[in-house]
Amino acid sequence: MTDLKVANDMVVRVHYTGTLPETGEVFDSSEGRDPLTFLVGHRKMIPGFEEEMMGAVQGERREFVLEPERAYGHPNDELIAEFPKSDFAQLEESGVEIEIGMTLVAQTFQGPAPFMVTAVNDEMITADFNHAMAGKTLAFSVEVVELRQATEEEISHGHAHGPGGVEH
Ligand code: ZN
Repeated sequence: MTDLKVANDMVVRVHYTGTLPETGEVFDSSEGRDPLTFLVGHRKMIPGFEEEMMGAVQGERREFVLEPERAYGHPNDELIAEFPKSDFAQLEESGVEIEIGMTLVAQTFQGPAPFMVTAVNDEMITADFNHAMAGKTLAFSVEVVELRQATEEEISHGHAHGPGGVEH
């Protein structure tokens, strides 16, 4: 045990379970996996998650509920786009039929961007790039497994290195 506390520029490893408070459905969990590792204060996590964990010590467990404003935000109509179905000809030729509810990945200048197909007709596909959790209230149970001061290099890169971090 140490007297370190979760703060900006700390590397934190946590076990967490995220549930939808209305149904109790688990939407994400580190159970059975390695702990989630992140550098605090570098926008690696949804804002409320870090805020709620500030000051926690190793071994501490916290439970909290985040409204959409502090989680993935509200759905934004500007993130809904239409594409000609011909853009997806390659996919259809490979035998994939594009259906409502399917998640596909678009290659953009900023890198891969996942989207959900929300409408399909003979000519156009409607793609929703909003995060699947946008507009949702999320409950978390989080336990601090390990925490340490980040190195200068990690801070300058804006991410954690080492176990659970970025390898490069
Ligand atoms: Zn790095």
